Amino acid sequence: MNGSDRRTFLKCAGAAAVAVGLPGCTTMNKHDVSNTPEITVRVEAPASPLVSRTFEILKVRLEQRYLSRVVESGVRAQIILAIDDSLSPDAFRIDQIGAAVHVFGGTPRGLLYGVGKFLRTSRYDGSFQPSHWRGTSKPHGTLRGMYFAAHFHNWYHQASKSEIARYMEDLALWGVNAVMVIFPMINLQDWNDPQAEPAMAMLRQCAQSARELGLQFVTGVNNTMFIGIPKHIRATPLPDPTGRRGNSGHPICPSIPEGHAYIMANASQLFEKLSDVGLDILCFWPYDEGGCACEKCQPWGSNGYLKLSRDLTHLGRTYFPNLKTILSTWMFDTPPEGEWQGLADALARDREWVNYILADSHEDFPRYPLDAGVPGKLPLINFPEISMWGNWPWGGFGANPLPARFQRLWDQVKHVVEGGFPYSEGIYEDMNKTVVLQFYWDRNQSARTTLEEYIAYEFGSGVTEDVLAIVDLIEAATGRSFQKQSVDIEGVQRAFQLSEAVNERLPVWARQNWRWEILHLRAVLDRERFAGGGLETPAAEAAMVRLIEIYHCQMETDDPYHHRVRPPLQRAVSRCGEC
Ligand SMILES: [Zn+2]
Repeated sequence: MNGSDRRTFLKCAGAAAVAVGLPGCTTMNKHDVSNTPEITVRVEAPASPLVSRTFEILKVRLEQRYLSRVVESGVRAQIILAIDDSLSPDAFRIDQIGAAVHVFGGTPRGLLYGVGKFLRTSRYDGSFQPSHWRGTSKPHGTLRGMYFAAHFHNWYHQASKSEIARYMEDLALWGVNAVMVIFPMINLQDWNDPQAEPAMAMLRQCAQSARELGLQFVTGVNNTMFIGIPKHIRATPLPDPTGRRGNSGHPICPSIPEGHAYIMANASQLFEKLSDVGLDILCFWPYDEGGCACEKCQPWGSNGYLKLSRDLTHLGRTYFPNLKTILSTWMFDTPPEGEWQGLADALARDREWVNYILADSHEDFPRYPLDAGVPGKLPLINFPEISMWGNWPWGGFGANPLPARFQRLWDQVKHVVEGGFPYSEGIYEDMNKTVVLQFYWDRNQSARTTLEEYIAYEFGSGVTEDVLAIVDLIEAATGRSFQKQSVDIEGVQRAFQLSEAVNERLPVWARQNWRWEILHLRAVLDRERFAGGGLETPAAEAAMVRLIEIYHCQMETDDPYHHRVRPPLQRAVSRCGEC
């Protein structure tokens, strides 16, 4: 990879809000824009910050894909952006009226989703061909979230403000309506820790970016807080016979009055620090980072956890009166303790403090809500793990597309689940994100259909079948490698050859797209590690160096967990911890 490729990534990563006036990609830099064709857009939607932003999002992406200037014009517009109050708020409609393609949204946010569909179904090969898709679309799922696990100096932790904003725009175009980011108390001594202020700045920035796009901002609290908690208020460690609940961090017992007061005081500070940027949803989490097994708290999931979560809800609503809540049931009844039934009994008595129940597991979906119904008859959301399965380090070999896996898991729950929060460690699972987001939008849209749209939009026309074949071959190799079976060498070679051939055919804008790069690099690295000379060949090292750049990894790190998200380049250094 040469230097100009690297600069291109950074330039192309700018958000619409900050990239206005930038051409977007290097090919455009050299062009005299006065001679380029114009695409004319008329904005009929009433003026608002989100409508202006939506126009800029459209403009930046069109100009990146097709050598053109997008101008706002009152006459002879090719694209018209408008609001249609008869649509439901997040719905959109795309129509041809006269010579123009009209994109209507039920609200400005619906318009943004409609622009996403318009962009994905337009074509950019040689000339701009506005979308031929016509119809009305409204989401099935009410909570179409994404959890940015911003830690370990992963991409979310390292990316600039404009990169995060740009990425949120991209996800919004696919239908996301809520972004969750957690303040990492688990890694901090207390509020005076030198890392506390930058972490809060990151959290506030994400909240602001999300809300500027009309997306809900979500954060979480539970009974695991700072490292430096007083010893006498610590929780009793959990029984964990299946090794699945975890005992991470330093949880606090809320049945000790001083422990309860400590949790409330720190939650108050968190709410206070978010009070100007806003908080829409609070998520409670029982295990891994959380839990207490003392006599007064156990069984945690249907006792201490519920009391504490209800108290935190009431506290949160003093800061944010419309605050909604998500109650996670992660690892309930592992081992069986009657937690699901206890939750159902508790919510039958009082459910006003809970808006959503979240359920999922490391493997197949928990049976209780499928067999017995959702406690409190509340909307059920899931928590797909899109980042870690079958790859270590996470994202270390590039893209990890797993459409068949997520289709199988979705088919188990699509009749009951109304949305969720995929767990994301970075940008390498971008394909998985779009697959799941479109499940939430239309429960019957297949993963394959979503990827067809993704490939045509991100990589251009004429490569869909080949890229789908690459994705299938990568997923097959991932599955066999994960199950410690021998990987199909011919398949790995075939994926590599296909990716080289596609790379030659791509237009410049697509070849320089990081989404293509991480898929292409994955094919290179699979060939090297499964069918070539291993991870120390020049080709493998060059691929990992480029991934390290794209992910903004640290070549030398003091973060004891950074190796979890950094490609395994031998000369990369971890100075402490689990290295
Ligand atoms: Zn306790």
